[in-house]
Amino acid sequence: MRASAERIRQDIETIAGFSSSGPGTNRLSFTPEYWAAVDYVAAQMAALGYERKTTLHGNTRFRKRDADWREPAVAVGSHLDAVPRGGRFDGVAGIVAGVEIARLVDDSGVRFGRPYELIVFAEEEGARFGSVLAGSKALVGRLTHRELGLMKDANGTSYLEALEERVEHASTALGSVFGAEDVASYFELHIEQSLVLEAARVPVGIVQAIVGIRQYRVTYSGVANHAGATPMRQRRDSLAATARAISAVEELAAASPTGVMVGTVGMLVNEPNAANVIPARTVFSVDLRDTDVAALAEIGERVQETIKRIADERQVDAQVTLTAESAPVVLSSRLRDALIGSAGRQGIAFLEMPSGAAHDAQEIARVTDAAMIFVPSIAGRSHCPEEDTPYEAIALGVDVLLGAIRETGKRAD
Ligand SMILES: [Zn+2]
Repeated sequence: MRASAERIRQDIETIAGFSSSGPGTNRLSFTPEYWAAVDYVAAQMAALGYERKTTLHGNTRFRKRDADWREPAVAVGSHLDAVPRGGRFDGVAGIVAGVEIARLVDDSGVRFGRPYELIVFAEEEGARFGSVLAGSKALVGRLTHRELGLMKDANGTSYLEALEERVEHASTALGSVFGAEDVASYFELHIEQSLVLEAARVPVGIVQAIVGIRQYRVTYSGVANHAGATPMRQRRDSLAATARAISAVEELAAASPTGVMVGTVGMLVNEPNAANVIPARTVFSVDLRDTDVAALAEIGERVQETIKRIADERQVDAQVTLTAESAPVVLSSRLRDALIGSAGRQGIAFLEMPSGAAHDAQEIARVTDAAMIFVPSIAGRSHCPEEDTPYEAIALGVDVLLGAIRETGKRAD
């Protein structure tokens, strides 16, 4: 019983056709093209005997028609919304993996001890309503109905208004918010969106943890002055100080003992930004990520100290504000072990690795056991039309998932 790369290819190419325009995939949450993708998945699942439920918050859940929705399921999920000019695989690979598992189970007559569920999370990318992981956050009760009503798209249409254009009577009853009593084990397959697997020539990554984030906004304030008339020793140059700080962020992140830490200065605004004026005010961001909460706190402190020391040395004022913080999420060791066992039994090579990007699995991990596997991204490209993954690698990922589900789906767990 092995996954079919050919069926996976057909599914992914069909779903890629549900796009408002080219180039790339354009499929924002709750648009006609979004529902066309969900409907395609629903048709595949219906043919296998699954019923579809749309939750109050626009997530889509599938279980067999004769399954008990109150019994804890073993679930697979991901998302079908895309960033503008996005790729064909982000999110879609995970949903197609879940459909392929349903087919394989149907073909073979294998029965899991628990009901099998497929979940399509709404608005994972946050590309329409501005908040990432909105559907999975709502499903675990971290975003309320009221808050979804306040989230608006660029045209002023709210999340709930957009949802109601299609779903008039979303189920207010069972399953709009869930916990471990509804889903016992959650698995997600996702494209890696980076270069690690390709470089290692390994088809599957088993994710240990999803990184936590610390983001700061730094303002250096100096004094604007004539670029010709001001001697070097008498300057209070905010941009020159920023240049030192950017180097320090790189050095501190690279020297972190975890080997996972990444540090980025991705935003910079410089004033007055004129060739003949010494810069007076520079604002920049610092983004730090690691799977180790202590390392994240420690490097965060050292970055702040360094930013202040540079300010003293260069006689500029420094203001540092923490603008975003999220804790790392360590995934379930029980499910990780099941994935490792499954890959080992089937002779499929894998790497254990962290996830540098956010995924729905991190929200589900708040309420129940969750695990993730990665499949390679060709040239590491993602969130762009060039996004690509070999269909054979997705099929191997499905084989690993299915083996793990068969183990963990046993009621004895
Ligand atoms: Zn994704």
